[in-house]
Amino acid sequence: MNQVVKKIIIMAFFLTAFIASNQTIAASVVDTNSTYTYETMKKDLAELDETYGDLIELYTIGQSVYGRDIVLVRLGNGQADTFYNGSHHAREWLTTILNMKMIESYAEAAEAGTTIEGYDVRSLLEKGTLWFVPMVNPDGVTLQQKGLQAFPKDIHKSLISMNNGSSNFDRWKANVQGIDLNRQYPSGWEEVSTTSPSWKNYKGEYPFQAPEAKVMRDLTYLLNPAVSLAYHTSGRVIYWNFNVDQEDLGRDQDIAELYASLSGYRMVPTYAGSGYTDWINEVFDRPSLTPELGLYAGERHVDPATFPETWRRNKEAGLAMANESVKLQFPEHTPGDQPVVLGDRATERDILPPRDIDDYYEKALDIMEDYHLSQEESIEYYSWYQQCKGDCSINDPELNEVFDKLLHFEDLPEQKDIEEDKTWTIELNTHIDPESVNKDNVYIQTTEGQAVPLEDAVVEDNFITVHAEESYRKGKSYTIYVKDLISAGGQKMEEPVEMTFTIQ
Ligand SMILES: [Zn+2]
Repeated sequence: MNQVVKKIIIMAFFLTAFIASNQTIAASVVDTNSTYTYETMKKDLAELDETYGDLIELYTIGQSVYGRDIVLVRLGNGQADTFYNGSHHAREWLTTILNMKMIESYAEAAEAGTTIEGYDVRSLLEKGTLWFVPMVNPDGVTLQQKGLQAFPKDIHKSLISMNNGSSNFDRWKANVQGIDLNRQYPSGWEEVSTTSPSWKNYKGEYPFQAPEAKVMRDLTYLLNPAVSLAYHTSGRVIYWNFNVDQEDLGRDQDIAELYASLSGYRMVPTYAGSGYTDWINEVFDRPSLTPELGLYAGERHVDPATFPETWRRNKEAGLAMANESVKLQFPEHTPGDQPVVLGDRATERDILPPRDIDDYYEKALDIMEDYHLSQEESIEYYSWYQQCKGDCSINDPELNEVFDKLLHFEDLPEQKDIEEDKTWTIELNTHIDPESVNKDNVYIQTTEGQAVPLEDAVVEDNFITVHAEESYRKGKSYTIYVKDLISAGGQKMEEPVEMTFTIQ
């Protein structure tokens, strides 16, 4: 009797040891050799979010026609934004696997402090942020993988008819409205010939008609990425140059050539527009690439068993693009795009310009414009707005969390001809608690939203004096912001103020 119990204990011990060591060796969350579904992606993202703390954050930024979440993933915390997306086209879900594998591998390397092909991933994720929408078209992917049974009976007939009368959906590329999401962007859209809703190529009645494409539009304005990558799967080529301005051609070509050399994909000229990359190339004047990951597999998905080859070609290339974003350092808005925002300059540069927007989105924008939102707050706000739909209240407790930090600055008259070494004296109507004055509530920014390094402010009674560490630059404009001060009597300052000044 004794002996039997002992045996069980030993076996249990070995079993535990085996499980533990197995976990450390093969900790990978993303199974790349599988029919990678929407449900698997959601489960894997939740696990990665849990595992990697502040490094990874998830946002639900909208819903597909049949209510599947469109998920945005933030990886890293730096200034330079790079945007990756996959599965615009339903049958091309190998691209979702690539997005997911990048998220996991790059997070793992950053956490461990290891390098990938010479890239110090941790440091790269401090300088830049990698944003992913791994599955732009979750309904389409689900239809392609699971067929009719995943959708309500009353649309089966129309799905079959859009699929040339077949109930085999292997070839499906569109969303479930039969709109090709990569024919929904306005650059070159007019020229795309069209028929009617179909498993592929139908451009819709107007650009951004499909909810999935609309989310991509809004998100692009929010992120304003330096470099973006829209992954597809057919042909091992790269599209990169739709209506690129002459002065940007060299820059964009260098970036496409870098991707081509690392991946072995061939650069080809884009002859027809209306895709995501075309829109970025033409409208945003920023580099954007469409890497086509695999060899043409016929009218169906690429076998996920081929993924190791795809990974070998794109692992370093993905990081190289994030590194290019860091190097590019764009001014955040081009002239004429400036939105009217009541916030500090750093906030202003992150808010989307009101272009090409419908009523629903305009409402959201109006509210955003009245507040001082960081990029992350804007995304949180957008995510909240997308989920509350018609039933949104400014008093929603969830929204209050976002708005807690937000402020509306009162604009004081602009000052001109200021000397380079100016010391500012701020006069308040009452004595100020010196403890309440710091670099987060009395600060100066350039017009690009960069913080100006300041000496410690001097507080005396109802005066605060502020001096920059270095001289201001001739002809440049700056804005000083004052907020959240506390009076000697413990009262909080009512309205934050800003004042712009220009150096002589
Ligand atoms: Zn495609």
